[in-house]
Amino acid sequence: MIRLRNSSKILFQILFVVCLLISNFYIPEVQAKTLREMREELEELKEKYANNQLQIDLTEEEIEQTEARIASIRTTILDIQENMYELRNTIEQLNQDIIVKEEEIKDILVFFQVANGENSYLEYAFGAKDFTDFIYRLAVSEQLTSYNNELVEQYKKDIEESERKTEELKQQEVDLNEERDDLEVEMAKLGDRLEELDSDSLSIEEQLAIMESEIELYTSLGCGEDQTIEQCSAEVLPPDTTMWRPTPTGYISGYSGWRVSPIDGDTEFHHGLDMSDSGANWDDYPIYSIANGIVVYVDNSNTSTCGGNKVYIQHYINGQFYTSGYWHLRDVTVEEHQVVTKNTQIGVMGGYPATEYWDECSTGAHLHLELSDKPFNQENGGSESIYGLRDGFLRPELNINFPSKGVYWSDRTTKY
Ligand SMILES: [Zn+2]
Repeated sequence: MIRLRNSSKILFQILFVVCLLISNFYIPEVQAKTLREMREELEELKEKYANNQLQIDLTEEEIEQTEARIASIRTTILDIQENMYELRNTIEQLNQDIIVKEEEIKDILVFFQVANGENSYLEYAFGAKDFTDFIYRLAVSEQLTSYNNELVEQYKKDIEESERKTEELKQQEVDLNEERDDLEVEMAKLGDRLEELDSDSLSIEEQLAIMESEIELYTSLGCGEDQTIEQCSAEVLPPDTTMWRPTPTGYISGYSGWRVSPIDGDTEFHHGLDMSDSGANWDDYPIYSIANGIVVYVDNSNTSTCGGNKVYIQHYINGQFYTSGYWHLRDVTVEEHQVVTKNTQIGVMGGYPATEYWDECSTGAHLHLELSDKPFNQENGGSESIYGLRDGFLRPELNINFPSKGVYWSDRTTKY
């Protein structure tokens, strides 16, 4: 029995060392870049941004041109429709003229028939003063008939010409409508492209902001240009050996892990440990850093976004990097890049719905504490992440000494 226990103990120790070696082996992958490399990356990113902006300008120009072409097509189509309308009127008018002229011709022809008839002199007498007049009238009538016939022919030609023009205009209208349809498809594509470019630009802007703030942080900490960020952090972060509870008194009100959300009743993974106290809603109930470290992110904007006012701190504990996050703060009392110890008050507990800066992810005054063994960045806890520290997430209740849920503590260090 004893031998077995000993051998399993040794096996456990070996496993522990192997795990330690593996974790140490992987750490440098996280931040193995030097400050110089980060600056180079920043320059590349700036170039990418400038190029993206240029593409945006070109696309906007193309959109403008396409819009102008579509507008001009619309005007041309309106002109064509106006022309066709006029042509229709002309054709109608000509048809009426033809009817009138044909009527006249018919009358004249009747007159001829009567005039050429055998018993017709008397009939011709009326209207004619004498025979000479009659002859004259006959001649004029003949001319009139041929003139009217010519006119009718001319009208018919005019109608044909107008119909030909109408057909031509119709074809033009069809072609222009087709062109406009194509251009509208093109416009939609350009709009999508612009949207994509704009969103790329925004994400590059965010990356630039993160990189610039990281470079600023490590420069302000006195990191050498060719020192990796990890080497530098290990030198400049105030080292520590333990983590303390972040509040002087209190009790756990909600564990991390799967739970039913108190906000919407859905099943969700809770990326933090919730704690509260009878004095949680005091306006001076203090929150402390769980360990020595450097403040890497502060949101003290007093907006009601999920988590509200937040602080993130980077730690170096027993040779391992950690990031801790503190949510729902009524107020923040530290600044970004500030070096803190575990005795530094970083803020005041908040999250109570009746207080001015209650955020939408809280139903009562409490602290939501997050822990990760990965660095803080925009996606991992940063302002873009509404979910907090996902990468390298650790359950705080398993890494910091806490009593069980509901059990009250009255200092930050007593072991449970
Ligand atoms: Zn929480």
